[in-house]
Amino acid sequence: MLPESGVAESAPERVVVVGGGVGGLAAALALGRAGYPVVLLEADPLPILADAEAAFAAERKGAPQVHQTHGFLARIVVELRERFPDVLETLLASGCTTMPAVADFGDVEPGDSDLAALIVRRTTFEWVLRQAVVAEPLIEMRTDVRVTGVTGATQPWSDGVVVVDGVELNDGSHQPAGVVIASTGRRGAIPEWLGAHGVDVPETIVESGLMYLSRWYRLPEGSFSVLDPKLMGDLGFVKYIAVPGDGNTLSVTLAIKAEDRDLRVALSDPDRFELACRALPGPDQFFASGSLEPCGPVRPMGGLLNRIRRFVDDDGRPTVLGFHAIGDAHTCTNPLYGRGCSLAIVQALLVTDALIEHPDDPSERARSYENGSRREVEPWYEVSVQMDELGADPAGLAGIGPGDNPGGKAVAALFVAAATDPIIGRGLARFWNLLATPRDLMSDGELLTRMAAVMADPDAYPVPPHNGPSRVELLEAIAAPTDN
Ligand SMILES: Cc1cc2nc3c(=O)[nH]c(=O)nc-3n(C[C@H](O)[C@H](O)[C@H](O)COP(=O)(O)OP(=O)(O)OC[C@H]3O[C@@H](n4cnc5c(N)ncnc54)[C@H](O)[C@@H]3O)c2cc1C
Repeated sequence: MLPESGVAESAPERVVVVGGGVGGLAAALALGRAGYPVVLLEADPLPILADAEAAFAAERKGAPQVHQTHGFLARIVVELRERFPDVLETLLASGCTTMPAVADFGDVEPGDSDLAALIVRRTTFEWVLRQAVVAEPLIEMRTDVRVTGVTGATQPWSDGVVVVDGVELNDGSHQPAGVVIASTGRRGAIPEWLGAHGVDVPETIVESGLMYLSRWYRLPEGSFSVLDPKLMGDLGFVKYIAVPGDGNTLSVTLAIKAEDRDLRVALSDPDRFELACRALPGPDQFFASGSLEPCGPVRPMGGLLNRIRRFVDDDGRPTVLGFHAIGDAHTCTNPLYGRGCSLAIVQALLVTDALIEHPDDPSERARSYENGSRREVEPWYEVSVQMDELGADPAGLAGIGPGDNPGGKAVAALFVAAATDPIIGRGLARFWNLLATPRDLMSDGELLTRMAAVMADPDAYPVPPHNGPSRVELLEAIAAPTDN
């Protein structure tokens, strides 16, 4: 149990947070507000930016995905409302909106108001969070400074386990720490840092095999409200999604198989990317009255994987003390499902709670945090891997999706049934938005009965036909003049 105040009771240790992306910012904010002195170290130079447009224009070499399409699930709204209500208010005041994440079933049920996704550019989200961090008196944020390793040693009390006591910086200096929280993202070097001290960090990686090609556009004022605001589809060879953001923006992502060289080359060209948008049912409506103002180039991004790292042994015993990884540095999920930012914030709050709960016991703190992650985060890693295997993400609803895979067909049938069955609809919306784990769904008898009936007869819930082009037709439609 947390102390009722939600604030550390004994003299708090200095916490060094490495990485100023979503997870690191949330951890710093939660800890700073709980009374911990925090030093936040971020490798990218992040000047004070005047507004959301300046944040959008700034490059983020250390987190290049900030310029990829980001959907923000209802879970993130709920966490912000409960833990950082001022951040949510500022986001809404900065032009962000929320959008219902469940079909309109007429009657309103308790919990429905939680089912709302956040419409915001990732750059705006991070900018608002950063403003809140910078305003906290107990947080010192240092940017343009790279952590190169951790320091630490076993202690007489640590039973042979390495206790991390600081970080080394690229200017040769040392930053001491009572606790180090690493939120270094997908590409951070945590296994190397800990490996240098003999700490093994086992990881399991399941590649999605996908790559993103994304481009941002500016929509004419007011056009968003008259259009279907969220458009996705799956033609087997391409999954696509168009997501509006604040500031009249729209991002379109075409996710293709990483090894599909012909499509990759063609779609990397901005003009041919736009031709593809015009050929895909859904995104095409945005281009019906002519070209949109593009904001920047087509941005490719590969290496989209599911990955989980272990910081406890098979008996649940911590393998390192005074060091906790959060966000993508701990667990990565295929970005197609839009879970990463929500899970990074969940882990930032879990580690904060563990620190407050166990101020004097690093071992119990690590156990508590890793148990929380196993309960709250790991199920989504597993679900992502399973959904990848089935090819049955909701995007599949609009197209070929699950193909002949029987498991995929059954799951796709559930998503079809969810549009008209309020019990399945709410259950799946809560699941999809990380508000109910698979275990939660399994404990709901009525939901289970209904889902079992649908899955036993998936042919009664056919996926609606989709009129998109075949791969060859798309390649022809976007052929460069010299290709003909
Ligand atoms: C293509 C793509 C699309 C995505 N779409 C979505 C989506 O729709 N919805 C969603 O919720 N999530 C999405 N995600 C996932 C989401 O972006 C991540 O889960 C989220 O950013 C994780 O936050 P983080 O703090 O762990 O890491 P990051 O936000 O990546 O931040 C890591 C930070 O650490 C810094 N850093 C790294 N090493 C060091 C060092 N040695 N010293 C100092 N600083 C360092 C980096 O510069 C960076 O700022 C997507 C990811 C990708 C790749």
